[in-house]
This record gives sequence, structure tokens and C-alpha cells, in this order.
Amino acid sequence: MDTRMFKVPAATTPGEELDRFMAGLKRRNPGEAEFHQAVEEVAKDIVPFIHNNPVYKDAYILERMTEPDRTIMFRVCWEDDQGRVRVNRGYRVQMNNAIGPYKGGLRFHPSVTLGVLKFLAFEQTFKNSLTGLQIGSGKGGSDFNPKGKSDREVMRFCYSFMTELERHIGEDTDVPAGDIGVGAREIAYLFGQHKRMSNSFTGVLTGKGLSFGGSLIRMEATGYGAVYLMNNMLEHNGESIEGKTALVSGAGNVAQYATEKLIELGAKPVTLSDSGGFIHDPDGITRERLEWVKELKNVRRGRISEYADEFGCEYHEGLRPWGIKCDLAFPCATQNEIDMEDARSLISNGCLAVAEGANMPSTNEAVDLFNESKLIFAPGKAANAGGVAVSALEMSQNASRLAWEEAHLDDQLKGIMKEIHEQCVQYGKNEDGSINYTRGANIAGFVKVADAMLAYGII
Ligand code: NDP
Repeated sequence: MDTRMFKVPAATTPGEELDRFMAGLKRRNPGEAEFHQAVEEVAKDIVPFIHNNPVYKDAYILERMTEPDRTIMFRVCWEDDQGRVRVNRGYRVQMNNAIGPYKGGLRFHPSVTLGVLKFLAFEQTFKNSLTGLQIGSGKGGSDFNPKGKSDREVMRFCYSFMTELERHIGEDTDVPAGDIGVGAREIAYLFGQHKRMSNSFTGVLTGKGLSFGGSLIRMEATGYGAVYLMNNMLEHNGESIEGKTALVSGAGNVAQYATEKLIELGAKPVTLSDSGGFIHDPDGITRERLEWVKELKNVRRGRISEYADEFGCEYHEGLRPWGIKCDLAFPCATQNEIDMEDARSLISNGCLAVAEGANMPSTNEAVDLFNESKLIFAPGKAANAGGVAVSALEMSQNASRLAWEEAHLDDQLKGIMKEIHEQCVQYGKNEDGSINYTRGANIAGFVKVADAMLAYGII
């Protein structure tokens, strides 16, 4: 790449530098709207920061960080239950390995494109850095839709996907995990095929079953971690989670375990959703009802509307839950599920704090509105980092051939989320003493990776 295109005259303002940087990024990555959005959200904080710290600017660190180390795209052919040939596209974006092996999940969803995976891999750079662990960033997946497929079809797809991916990953090179559409079942099929092809049993994937190298707490870690970070933020403001009414979106891995931890800490989660709509259970989702949801979503693979039929509460088809009055909100489904209007509803309904369980669930305009208001807002790269943190702990356990106890892992997760909170406070403090967690997470995540890249010279 010709870096001369990035050269800016010394006398420009941070605002002009941001415009110029974003124009260049959009020119080089046409049609990748989610990637542009994710980079812009970070660059708004980093460009002014590097303006005042020219060592990063002169070395073009942000330009290097927004260019993946490599992207791999491949054909995935498989045979469905009717014997028909099906063709999907597979990807792995190896974004940045300055501070450790590439690490980040695999997403199987029809909306997957290269731009979506580049946004996720870019976010992962900052998130993984914030955990304080030795993990670089990556993301991958396919436009394959597991919904409505039989177990055998999912198995054949996973085998075919791994047949290509196997040569690109390794326990010291790149360690994928789950994400939307990739849960325990898919990780087991992928790991089984990797083991067979490589004739080795190594920690090359995380989120594995407990009988074959998985870690306790991994399944729970993203949702639990988001609630721990929320707790840290509330405590910092003299508040507590107990007794608070919470909105949760999604009904998958992250939503289920955020809801579980909210119940355990005495909060009242009242909503869950999926791509069909949301349920509102005003008396609070109980432990028993949550167990029913886990069975519905993880075993029967049904729709959240069935909750309303089973327990006699409201189901709002085609809608998102952000118009319901609440104290706390946990978007845990997917990107761009909170827009300006949703953000306005949350603020005007008196919501105290939002912690993003999902990646980039709020649009950049919604994030700006949250940060301009008194609402306490934690971006996904801080709030959902618990999942990848425990994945890194799974890698450590695999490398040492040991399995740690649940209480030890949960303590580590709590400690990591607390440390993330402290980094956000360090870099995100406003003049009035309030915390801009977006800026704090962006700058803290940037500095560690940037310093490693500087140390390597021009790589
Ligand atoms: P799951 O596949 O387990 O669940 C995803 C949930 O989100 C489902 O309820 C799904 O509904 C809903 N959803 C997906 N797409 C849409 C859409 N376009 N509109 C409305 N609802 C949608 O995924 P996870 O819980 O693992 O992931 C959720 C989010 O958390 C993602 O943003 C992911 O990147 C992020 N994340 C996950 C981590 C993990 O450890 N799993 C770690 C860090 C972040 P439906 O079934 O109808 O599609």
C-alpha cells in the first residue's frame, strides 16, 4: 500500500485529519459500511489523541491498524440432506498479531460479508488489548445459515469449512471461537475435523466442550462479564445493580448469561428478543423461565415468541425492546440494534446505564447521544471482553494441560472486568469528573497494541 496517500500537512487540525483519514479508508475499502462505522467510532477518539502524541502519527500506526495482516476467503461446498450441492463463502480476517496470536470468533449468519468481519476483527484488536492478555485479533465465518438445518447438515458444513481453515490456524497462530450461529455444537464439529486433519490435539479453538479441553465459565463469560462491568460502572457512581429493572435483547449465548447474572445479583430483567420480535415479562424473568429459554434456544432451536405463549406475557412482533421503561439496558443481539430514536427513548425513560453485550449494537449517532447525556455507556469492546478473556484462559489451560476450578476462573473474570473499568476511567475522564467509557476504551486499547507495533519497527 502506498502510505504517501496518508501524508497530511503538519498544520492540520484533528477534525481535518479525521476527515482525511476516513476519506482514505472509505476509498480503499468500498462498500464496507460496517467497517467504516467501526473505524470511525474509534478514529474520533484516536485521531485527536495521536495529534497530541505524534510518535504514533509519524509511524502511521492507525493506518497500519486498519489494514488487516491478511484476509482469507474460500469456497465451502457441502451436501444437504436431499443430496443437493450447496456452496457458501468462508472467511478468516487475521487482523493484528502484535500482542499475541490472532483471536476472535467465527460467525455463521446470512448477513456475513467481508466488511462485517473486518468491523468485528477491528473491534477485536481493542477489546483483546483491554483484557491485558496476550491475544491479537481476528474474526471469521461464513454466510451459511444454520437456522433450519439438520445437525448432520451443520456437521457437513463445519467439516468442509474446517478443511480449508485448518491450514491457516494453530494454537500459536490463530485461535478462533464462537459468535452468532456458532455455539457448542458447531465448535465441536470444527474441532473434531481439525483434530482429524492435523493429527494433533491442541487448543486451536476455544469454547470447546468440557470433556475435550473446554474451560468452565467460558459459555457464561461474555454475559457475566457485561454485568460485572455494569456493576463496576454503577459502583463508581454510587449505585448498585440490585433492584434495577433491565432490558436485555437477544436470546442467545450472551443474552442468556447476562440475564442469569442479573437475576443472581438481584436485578429484574424484563425482556428478551430474537430476529422476530421481543417478549416483555414485567414481573421479571425468573431462573425457571430462563432455564426454559435455554432449552428453547439451545436444544429445540425455537422462537422467543413461544415464551409469551408459555408464560402469558406480551410479545411485540418485529420490534426491539428499547421503548420499555428501565434502569439498565443490555443490547446482546447484533450490530446496529439501537438507533438514534431508540437511544432517545432510553434516555427519556430515565435509563441510567447501557452495557453493550453485542458488538457495535448502537449506531455511532446513538453512541454520541449517550455520551452527551448523563447516561453511563460502556461500548462492546469493554463490556463484552469477558468472553475472549476466558477464551485466553482456556488457551492457558490447554497449553499447560490443566483445568482450573470455576471459582478461580470467575474471580479472574471479575478481576479482568474491573481492570478494564479502571483503564476506561484512566483514559476517559471528562473535565467534570464523569467518564467517557468509549474514549477510555478506545485509547487504552490502542496504546498497548500501538506500542508493540512501534517496537517492531516498520511491519
Ligand atoms: P447467538 O447466535 O447465541 O445469539 C444471537 C441472538 O441475537 C439471537 O437471539 C438472534 O436471534 C439475535 N439476532 C441475530 N441477528 C439478529 C438480527 N439481525 N436482528 C435481531 N436479532 C438478531 O450469538 P451470541 O449471543 O454469541 O452473540 C450475540 C452478540 O454478542 C453478537 O454481536 C456477538 O458478536 C457478540 N459477542 C459474542 C461473544 C460470545 O462469546 N458469544 C463474545 C463477544 C461478543 P435469531 O435466533 O432470531 O437470529
